[in-house]
Amino acid sequence: MPAVSQTNPRRRTTPTATITEHLAVFVFSVIFVAAAVGACSAQQPAAAPKFDGNRAFADLKAMVDLGPRPAGSPAIEKTRDYIRKQLVAAGLKPEDQAFDAETPAGTIHMVNIRATLPGQVQGKGRIVVGGHYDTKPFKEFAFVGASDAASSAAFLLELARALKGRQNALPIELLFLDGEEAVCKEWDQCSKPGNADHTYGARYYAQQAKKAGTTKDVRAFILVDMIADRDLNISREQNSTPWLTDAIWSTARRLNRPEFLQQTLPIEDDHLEFLEVGIESVDIIDLDYPAWHTAADDMNHVSAKSLQAVGDVVVGALPLIETRLK
Ligand SMILES: [Zn+2]
Repeated sequence: MPAVSQTNPRRRTTPTATITEHLAVFVFSVIFVAAAVGACSAQQPAAAPKFDGNRAFADLKAMVDLGPRPAGSPAIEKTRDYIRKQLVAAGLKPEDQAFDAETPAGTIHMVNIRATLPGQVQGKGRIVVGGHYDTKPFKEFAFVGASDAASSAAFLLELARALKGRQNALPIELLFLDGEEAVCKEWDQCSKPGNADHTYGARYYAQQAKKAGTTKDVRAFILVDMIADRDLNISREQNSTPWLTDAIWSTARRLNRPEFLQQTLPIEDDHLEFLEVGIESVDIIDLDYPAWHTAADDMNHVSAKSLQAVGDVVVGALPLIETRLK
């Protein structure tokens, strides 16, 4: 506390007294500083949110260990059990949004899972952070999808833990989407008007909100997808809402995260279903991944460091996004 010692008139006493009195000033200062720190802590009981890339990586591995997890498979049911269990352990209440999707492979039962962290501001809607947890079905090889899509589900689970002690301005809903992947080999190979062969869970969620007249309650949708590539490179996504993209990329710049590139790429993903019903959205995705949709999308090609980078940036961008929305 420099203010205390600078204004203390006893500094101009004799040298002998000075040592004693400086000691007294020092002791006083230490007590004062300790009291001040105590007062600050009392005003801000919530610790700064800490996203732990290693904990997220452990979730990623647990889901990869379940093997291929396509929509409608026994392994995706186990994945849901794992997700629900982790959410409950984080003190949240997972809710299922179940539906039957008409796909080129027949009717598939799908389930979106959501859990909401409370916010301080009521009646102004919520922020949704989402990602898919299904893996693309392949007959030719065992596709375990370490980045696509264990990384997004693992990210959301760690976000639950990181944000639960935070004073969130608006409620934050964590949304685990089913059925992002196309059933047919190519993205739009089997798409029909009004029923594209992909993004089934996102479309159901967005259309249900539209039917209920509640789309305006989703103030922003932040999508994460394929974010554990060891060599993480995330371009700005061209279809995304500009101010949300700016919030994420300006935070990345502030945090010196070179993984967030300035170049722009258009990518079709779950966020398009949200944009379609008028929900402002941003997609954070690394599609520059040679292992994409191959047997090599495994534990050797992903890293905790990459999850950490995205965690730091998304958590770091929340105050900017909240200030705009609250
Ligand atoms: Zn995919």
